Amino acid sequence: CGIVGYIGQQDTKEVLLNGLEKLEYRGYDSAGISVLNDKGVHLFKVKGRIAALRDEVDESVDATMGIGHTRWATHGAPSVENAHPHQSVSGRFTLVHNGVIENYVALRNEYLHDVELKSETDTEVIVQLVEKLNDQYHDVAKAFREAVRLLDGSYAIALMDEQNSDQIYVAKNKSPLLVGLGNDGFNVVSSDSLAMLQVTNRFVELMDKEVVMVRRDKVQILDLDGNEVEREPFTAEVDA
Ligand code: GLU
Repeated sequence: CGIVGYIGQQDTKEVLLNGLEKLEYRGYDSAGISVLNDKGVHLFKVKGRIAALRDEVDESVDATMGIGHTRWATHGAPSVENAHPHQSVSGRFTLVHNGVIENYVALRNEYLHDVELKSETDTEVIVQLVEKLNDQYHDVAKAFREAVRLLDGSYAIALMDEQNSDQIYVAKNKSPLLVGLGNDGFNVVSSDSLAMLQVTNRFVELMDKEVVMVRRDKVQILDLDGNEVEREPFTAEVDA
């Protein structure tokens, strides 16, 4: 299972599909991508292989940001409904997740009793929680931080906000996730540097329970209280 994300100038669906192919070796039962352009969010999901996802993706959708996922089901059977990305009730927020949210039942009961969930996954609780908290705070970055603060378990997550085409929000806890730095107006997110070596070999390591805003020209790391964290990138050495 794995996660990829891209924000830049290129044809995002290709970058995401190529990245997901590089993550296939980790194993998965379903896959999906969502991309955002001026017409909104476009979501494509399949049960099965990346090759099937390629067939499902609408060739004509041009976008310069998006997130992708390969799923290894832990909560809910492999199916299109349970495949990621998952969307909030309003459709505004779209999210991918690897790992297991151990307290998802408690979170659902406490915060989401009036929300009709569309999947059987532990993951969907995260994206619905972000929407709820944003209704309260009217500040997506804060809503995302507070959602992360409430999560118990393992996760690598990436979130898109339909109303902001300038950043992807990411966070991790006990699951791998890296940010890859492009040198001309793009940045990437991935579970594994291997998936992104064709676009960059400079990466920023993320620590557990940090939240990161990935923009085209900047990567901003915050702790859960919103304080900025400085971190130097490293260069991945690869054998050709
Ligand atoms: N627990 C989540 C699910 O079952 C994510 C699984 C994964 O890591 O792919 O959908």
